[in-house]
Amino acid sequence: MKIFISVDMEGIWGVVSSTHINNSTNEYQRMRKLMTREANVVIDEVFKNGATEVVVNDSHDTMDNLLIEELDPRAQLISGSSKPLSMMQGIDNTFDGIIFIGYHTRCGTPNGVFNHTYMGSTISRVLINGKEVGEGGINAGVGGYFGVPVLAISGDDLLAAQILEEIGSVETIVVKKAANRYVAHNLSYNDLKKTYEEKIRNVFENIKNYPVIEYTGNIIMDIELVSEVKAENIMLLPQAKRMDNKTIRIESEDYLELFMLFRTCMVLGGAVR
Ligand SMILES: [Zn+2]
Repeated sequence: MKIFISVDMEGIWGVVSSTHINNSTNEYQRMRKLMTREANVVIDEVFKNGATEVVVNDSHDTMDNLLIEELDPRAQLISGSSKPLSMMQGIDNTFDGIIFIGYHTRCGTPNGVFNHTYMGSTISRVLINGKEVGEGGINAGVGGYFGVPVLAISGDDLLAAQILEEIGSVETIVVKKAANRYVAHNLSYNDLKKTYEEKIRNVFENIKNYPVIEYTGNIIMDIELVSEVKAENIMLLPQAKRMDNKTIRIESEDYLELFMLFRTCMVLGGAVR
């Protein structure tokens, strides 16, 4: 049984302040250790419950945060950027399931710890076929393209509620209770471990019952930008349609192509203020 794990940082236990995720700080050096430690808790549970191969994709910012020398030696690590499939680099149809760790709520979620969608400085909202999605929902579609279900996701309590709308019934692992964007009430470390242990056991007992997010037909993605100038620059992409001053629409019958267009929109949108 082969498991794909995508690890972001904002939803990791203990990570709450912008200093924690700023890679020029000493605090960041502490937090990447916590990120690696939480990934190890999951990797260990996954192997205990029958996984035979685990591929971990570092999915935060420059995507080189996890400390390979401290990572469970049974796991493979995809590290570095930029990766064509970004937070889903490495996924293909040989996997049996996907686990998202350290994820966060989508942009605009009141009080969600570090709420944003891919690029907080560029994107204010993403909708697929009219439904609002965050990183979990967008990435689930990449997994679904390859026929792989999302099994579980961890982060704050608001993410847990939101992801049920975006993906459906997956195991949600709440590591902290959000108070506001930069404040959270973290579980005790003992409870964190216990929660992962229980939820990952559930996952493997019900492994056939998790949702595969597979889109068919024409798929429409609307991207609302934080400024008109960003929308303007994205119009350099021939496939982009201008919906209003800050909203761009891209569409495709192929989700992977749509995801690549989305990534291109981020590059173009991020290039201007
Ligand atoms: Zn991140």
